[in-house]
Amino acid sequence: MYEPVDALSSPRYSGPRTFGRLPHVETTDGVDVALFGMPWDSGTSYRPGPRFGPEAVRSASALLRPYNPAQDVMVWGALSCVDYGDAPTVPGYIEDTLARIQAYAESIHRGGAIPLGIGGDHSVTLAELRAAAAVHGPLGLVHLDAHHDVWDSYFGRPYNHGTVFKRACEEGLLDPPRCVQAGMRGSLYGPGDYQVSRDLGMTILPWLELRELGPAAYADLVRRRVGSGPAFFTFDVDFVDPAFCPGTGTPEVGGPTSAEAIDYVRALRGLDFRAFDVVEVAPQYDGPGQVTALLASNVAYEMLSLVALARA
Ligand code: MN
Ligand code: MN
Repeated sequence: MYEPVDALSSPRYSGPRTFGRLPHVETTDGVDVALFGMPWDSGTSYRPGPRFGPEAVRSASALLRPYNPAQDVMVWGALSCVDYGDAPTVPGYIEDTLARIQAYAESIHRGGAIPLGIGGDHSVTLAELRAAAAVHGPLGLVHLDAHHDVWDSYFGRPYNHGTVFKRACEEGLLDPPRCVQAGMRGSLYGPGDYQVSRDLGMTILPWLELRELGPAAYADLVRRRVGSGPAFFTFDVDFVDPAFCPGTGTPEVGGPTSAEAIDYVRALRGLDFRAFDVVEVAPQYDGPGQVTALLASNVAYEMLSLVALARA
């Protein structure tokens, strides 16, 4: 059983920074969830910076405690969790990087652990989906983001953080009727943009619809669509309003508060998540108190809580 350093015997600001002060090991033996970084931002279309996301999220995660009262579940001590390190990347070479992240994440799946990746811009999710689908078959998707990331190409090229789920559908990594995208807002290229997701066979809930549904009805809808099959949960921090989450590359105003965003995550009980990620933390634009990194670390903790609940 791998658990964090005990903060009641060693101050939280001591020691090398790992996620949640977990041990850094490179094994999946006896591991339930392997957290890892994906320090990568060559897939961004606007502001770069998420290559430093994993480092920032690790620093902000030192305050996480073993018990989650909102879900009434022990996390540390009930789940064996490790900081597995960082996936290999090749700055500027996206196809090489996707192949390396895929191999890295696939080794975690094949070792019987659940990977939880910290990005990195959203292009990394294509690599993680390739890894997960290679082991578990086509996946359901739970996607919280201000953007649907199903545009066909940027600058005539197929791979970047805005094309991820289009590529994933084309490659057969996803089971589109079992995919729910939610939180989309902001200006678009045209009135047909959201229809692209529906044409791929997925469900899309723009933020104005999601806000009307609320967390409980949203989670009911997700459980109906995604069902009992294997699923991937990806959280782009720009889902949250930039007043609460400024440290990101393509912020969109008018979104949920941090409290509202966490409620949507907590509601997603009863799903069979085989992998998770939290992406698009760009610490260069973060606010005082590193609020974006702090929120990202707590979203990851809520994902761990969902696994702990499923196994309790
Ligand atoms: Mn995204
Ligand atoms: Mn986004």
